Amino acid sequence: MKILKFGGSSVASPDTIRQVAAIVESYYEAGERFGVVVSAMGGVTDALLELADRAASGSDFTEKLDALRVRHLDAATGLLDGDRLRHTREKFERRFAKLDNILQAVQAIRELTARTKDYIVSFGERNSAFLLSQFLASKGLQAPYLDAANVVITDDRFGGARVRKEDTYARIQAWMAQFPGIPVITGFLGATEDGIRTTLGRGGSDYTAALFGAALDAELIEIWTDVNGILTADPRDVPDARSLKQVTYAEAMEMSHFGAKVIYPPTIRPALEADIPIVIKNTFQPGFEGTRISSVKAPNGQLITGIASIDKVVLLTLRGTGMIGVPGFAARLFSALSAEGVNIIMITQGSSEHAISFAVSPADALPAKAAVDKAFELEIERGIVEPVKMEDDLCIIAIIGESIKNRHNIAGMLFRALGANGVNVVAIAQGSSELIISVVLDRADKRKAVNAVHEMFFSDAITRVHLFVVGTGLVGKELLRQIEAQNPTLIRDHALEIKLCGIANSRRMYFDASGMPIADWPTLLDQGDKSDLAAFVTAMSEMNLRNSVFVDCTAGDRVPAFYGHVLDHSISISTPNKVAASGPLLRFRRLKQLARANNVSYLYETNVGAALPLIATIRDLVRSGDTILKIEGVLSGTLSYIFGAYTADKRFADVVREAKALGFTEPDPREDLKGLDVARKIVILAREAGAAMELSDVESDPILPDACLHAPNVEAFFAELEAAESFFAGHRDAAAQNGCVLRMLATYQDGHCRIGLQEVDASSPFYGLTGGDNMVAITSKRYHTHPLIVRGPGAGAEVTAAGVFAEIITIAKGR
Ligand code: ADP
Ligand code: ASP
Ligand code: MG
Repeated sequence: MKILKFGGSSVASPDTIRQVAAIVESYYEAGERFGVVVSAMGGVTDALLELADRAASGSDFTEKLDALRVRHLDAATGLLDGDRLRHTREKFERRFAKLDNILQAVQAIRELTARTKDYIVSFGERNSAFLLSQFLASKGLQAPYLDAANVVITDDRFGGARVRKEDTYARIQAWMAQFPGIPVITGFLGATEDGIRTTLGRGGSDYTAALFGAALDAELIEIWTDVNGILTADPRDVPDARSLKQVTYAEAMEMSHFGAKVIYPPTIRPALEADIPIVIKNTFQPGFEGTRISSVKAPNGQLITGIASIDKVVLLTLRGTGMIGVPGFAARLFSALSAEGVNIIMITQGSSEHAISFAVSPADALPAKAAVDKAFELEIERGIVEPVKMEDDLCIIAIIGESIKNRHNIAGMLFRALGANGVNVVAIAQGSSELIISVVLDRADKRKAVNAVHEMFFSDAITRVHLFVVGTGLVGKELLRQIEAQNPTLIRDHALEIKLCGIANSRRMYFDASGMPIADWPTLLDQGDKSDLAAFVTAMSEMNLRNSVFVDCTAGDRVPAFYGHVLDHSISISTPNKVAASGPLLRFRRLKQLARANNVSYLYETNVGAALPLIATIRDLVRSGDTILKIEGVLSGTLSYIFGAYTADKRFADVVREAKALGFTEPDPREDLKGLDVARKIVILAREAGAAMELSDVESDPILPDACLHAPNVEAFFAELEAAESFFAGHRDAAAQNGCVLRMLATYQDGHCRIGLQEVDASSPFYGLTGGDNMVAITSKRYHTHPLIVRGPGAGAEVTAAGVFAEIITIAKGR
């Protein structure tokens, strides 16, 4: 004997009902003995409740009632014909006429009791079960209709009645003995001993199936729904949640208790008591094996089984010194709640014992508070207990799994995932079953939290990075090109996907929280809103996406002004923009501290030498206990090129012109020759080495004579440069006489930074530097006979973008 239960989406339309019938027929043909439990057609219970509310508030309900009637009549027409169709349509017409009467009565007296509501919603299951039984009969199957109100006996808690199991089981057995065939049973419905209709709570058809399974000692209960079984998380929150092969009764109970709607919580108990496995299957993919719920544990290896969440909860806290060490306090609290019929979702108590918090659904919050305040009236009056405090707009997420008790690092992983995404934890509980850890969070963080936790625990889950790029110049463009080209490989080989969720330049900005097609960014950006940095940063933080990374590909100080805000919203930063790292030391330190406090990264390796590993190298040396004695470097590709090319046969002005023509210089080459950029870079390196250095501390020997510096425009500047040839040549030739060449060096030593032209001889590593490479020589306690040398291309969009890209991946992997 088996019980098959089909949910609302499985019986939503003639097409899906045909699929159900096909499944039923295949079981019949295989010689199985079984019964079928059905829910109302998808959405019908909600529609009936809405009708009831409309009637009770005096609003018009006729149009909606008519739509529901037509939906049922059409479904009958779509499935049946001849006498059977006529008979079914007549039945539906009679029932809808009756429903109309009841609704009119409700409207007339403007009163809707829970009892009447149950009567009204009962039409949903009665109609769907009747229709399916007729359809099966039309296919030649013996499929008697059973209104479960005849057999499921409950108390009179309308809306969520408790089942009297003994009576119920006896009646089910008696009915089954009397009526052969495949009964088609209304889920969700029951009745009191006096025959007053009740319901078993929303989602209660699953429970009906378990009751029939237990009463008939079934070998299996199958819950047919619209997903591939129990998934690792709610697929509406986590699109790549995957299906679980097997879970234990206890795990299923916890998953459903904490919001996994795929199975109604009370369903598990009757099955567990009779040791009947429950299998969750997909009506729309019947070949898929689904999830088996039984007492068998999944093989070792998985960290957790699944993640569940409850969207809306209210946390109530009873607090007071009067609670410390007083026995029976908790008992009084919980008996007050139980007398009020409040369902407690989770409880936590601080070890100080002077506060107990518990989470309930919003509908229970006010009654719960009233009941507890009343129970502790005297203590509250005496001032030793405070009136119950309520915090709303919260949610709960829970991780569940039999292996939680055997592993040590699971709570740590949970909190790491939450912390790294700036999710604030309001309360924590670990059930005594040790099967579950639940946390209360802000409701706004739910989706982000569930996804971050899912990525943390399910290694086959793809980690998604949500990227926000400001600046679409050479580097920004190149970065997006590289990401777009590499994304398929990242997904395939590294389970990592970078989603572009926001982009801006100085003119426009564009957002797509689900990730825009990266190749289309130019067109999308064109369609975007007018650019506004503050609005960009606000929109980005309000999207509240996990693993968010902000990339600043601009120059100048407008964007860095927002870094603090960005980090404060738990969004990591990667940037080639030097302004913040070389700006006021106090601000730079505060940014680093903010990053640490918010568990995110602020990375700027491309500030110096593009993607060359300079900052990371110095940082690693210092962290591992080395002391940096000296940093010496050619830190400007432009200046490296110019002085590398300024040989005896050349004129300085021509070399600078050549560099400009090759695109190596700023439009006004003085920007490079003044050395500000180099000064910023040496400050950044010196800070990494541990020096409290400000940009204004850098001593610099100007390269350019005053006349060149003050020329009114670029052409005039070149004219002055020509005129100063003897000045430059003099320098160069004097150096040559000493066997040296000129190099624009930046140096950090003994707490000082200086930049200027220096003569270097053939023994210097900088002597042979040509072609615009950057080179840095680091002398430290460990590297003191020969310096540690890093050399290579230190500028250019391609390598700079690659450096930023690498940082984005580092951020993603670090989580
Ligand atoms: P039915 O109408 O068949 O009873 P429900 O809508 O009650 O179906 O339950 C199935 C739905 O439960 C799925 O469509 C899914 O959106 C939701 N759900 C929530 N959590 C989970 C989970 N962990 N695994 C599978 N489904 C889940
Ligand atoms: N139709 C009922 C509901 O929507 C029962 C169920 O579907 O299980 O809650
Ligand atoms: Mg359901």
